[in-house]
Amino acid sequence: MLAGAMAFTATACGSTSTAAAPAGKPAVLAAFYPLQWVTEQVGGPDITVRSLTAAGVEPHDLELGAQQIADLEDATLTVYIKGVQPAVDEAVTADRAFDAATAVTTIPAGEHEEHAEGEVDHEHEVPYDPHLWLDPARFATVATKLGERLAAADPAHAQGFKDRAATTAAALSTLDQEFTKALSTCATKTMITAHEAFGYLADRYRLKQVGITLDPETEPSPARIAEVAELAKAEKVTTVFTEALVSPKVAEVLAAEAGAKTAVLDPLESKPAGDYLSAMRDNLQTLRTSLGCTP
Ligand SMILES: [Zn+2]
Repeated sequence: MLAGAMAFTATACGSTSTAAAPAGKPAVLAAFYPLQWVTEQVGGPDITVRSLTAAGVEPHDLELGAQQIADLEDATLTVYIKGVQPAVDEAVTADRAFDAATAVTTIPAGEHEEHAEGEVDHEHEVPYDPHLWLDPARFATVATKLGERLAAADPAHAQGFKDRAATTAAALSTLDQEFTKALSTCATKTMITAHEAFGYLADRYRLKQVGITLDPETEPSPARIAEVAELAKAEKVTTVFTEALVSPKVAEVLAAEAGAKTAVLDPLESKPAGDYLSAMRDNLQTLRTSLGCTP
């Protein structure tokens, strides 16, 4: 068992992982960071978890290399969200995949003003907004359902999966309560974001998200920037939110035009400095300050 575990570690960052997974320990793939986090929490020592998206990589445009295709074929289960990464959506096999979007009630994809010519909006490939991990309450449901799925795949360890799923769901519910309380009384309810990732957070905590663009890769038109700047002034917005993996240039231009400043809000599409819970608490602190929430 120990030898098997070491063999897995030794090959985890290189060659093929086929023969490397310890015998009897399911190899589970997570499509990108928040799914990796929840899978590790729920799976604990009973599975090995690898992420398809490397740290620091913007996940939406992920292309799969030969290694990742091989990993997908070998994995007992792949945890993903249909609509985030078209390459992953295409490569997964339905009976060995857990689509977190099927575990929760989704909200419609953001309505959006006209796009400049040539803009491709890949998030419209599904009719719903796929950024569901940014609502801790929905993410708690994902943890519970993932626990059931892992238990079904490996009945010998069912109790462990269910226990850890319950612990994870409880931690996410606590986080949800913190958000509800901290965001209940704020000077403005409007959050202007670099890309429209926070729809679920806005939905849960009764905020209004205005995304400068839907797609982190596209440049908004000057007309779109002027329009959002007008809205920012009208709604007394003090802060335009940017994110680590997207150039802050557009947000800075907009903030200058609206007389606002910028602050980083992490959509958690890549691994943060801490983990999911600590990064969400950092986001909450940023939101409280920026939206003028009291007490
Ligand atoms: Zn996104």
